[in-house]
Amino acid sequence: MDTNEHASGLQGRQLPTPCRNCRYELGGLPDNSACPECNTPVEQSLVVLLRRADPNYLAQLRTGAGRLRVLVWLIVGYLLLGILGLITYALLMALGSPRLNAQLEGLLLDAATVFTIGGWVVGLIFMWFFASGWWNVSAELPSGAQYDQPKRRKMLRVSLVIYLVFYVITLVLSLAALAEPLMNVVAVLPNLVSSVVYFVLLFAMGPLVESIALRVPDERTAKTARSFHWFMRAALVALLAGATLGAAGAMLIASIGGVGAIPLMFIGMLAFIILSLIAFARYCSMCLNLYKAVNSVETEI
Ligand SMILES: [Zn+2]
Repeated sequence: MDTNEHASGLQGRQLPTPCRNCRYELGGLPDNSACPECNTPVEQSLVVLLRRADPNYLAQLRTGAGRLRVLVWLIVGYLLLGILGLITYALLMALGSPRLNAQLEGLLLDAATVFTIGGWVVGLIFMWFFASGWWNVSAELPSGAQYDQPKRRKMLRVSLVIYLVFYVITLVLSLAALAEPLMNVVAVLPNLVSSVVYFVLLFAMGPLVESIALRVPDERTAKTARSFHWFMRAALVALLAGATLGAAGAMLIASIGGVGAIPLMFIGMLAFIILSLIAFARYCSMCLNLYKAVNSVETEI
């Protein structure tokens, strides 16, 4: 596999590459050339590439990417199962006799109970893959930390921990709400906090994956990460615009009866939903590509 040519192009364009001997900036020079200042081969300064990174770090990266890949298939499987269940139910309802329909309704109630309890279990399993996956992917590169994305990595890890804490609090409160419905009201605040933190977490993912992809180097994964990040930003803009227009519309209605802002708010919400769905699809490809990319690395040290 010839990655050298590819590597030099990406190295020169995307990452600072100081000479390991004299710190002269080697960006743009091919891998097989030498430092113009001290004649040290450029190859020796490319420690940032994963094939020269600490094998333990690479192993951790692979573990993380592997768990994120499993999670993608779990989510896709779960969604398909849900859709299939709904279609089957709708078909049976459409074709069935009244007696069959009555039986089906009873069955659906049982299924709903199983689904609610199962939902918590599934949620916890998903959360474990999600949290341990991203925790491992955001591990610190032992050497060449100056090429790393330390801020994004830190942002990801801090928001991940806060998110998990509030996730557990919300979960406990929603379980308590089974006995005391008032707990649902109490759960609103931690739910809100975890939603905000979740956005911070999502915004740290793209740039981090991109920085890892550039160390493979793998332009396809980097591209998916950038596109995921772009759609995330677009979705947030749509959400904020929709909320702003909604608030402005409410004020207008109160003062002069400007009902026109309401459709704009719905357009904002619709845009948010569509952009989120695209972002989710990009997220899935990003995780699958990352897994392939980090597993394609052949260690050189
Ligand atoms: Zn040099």
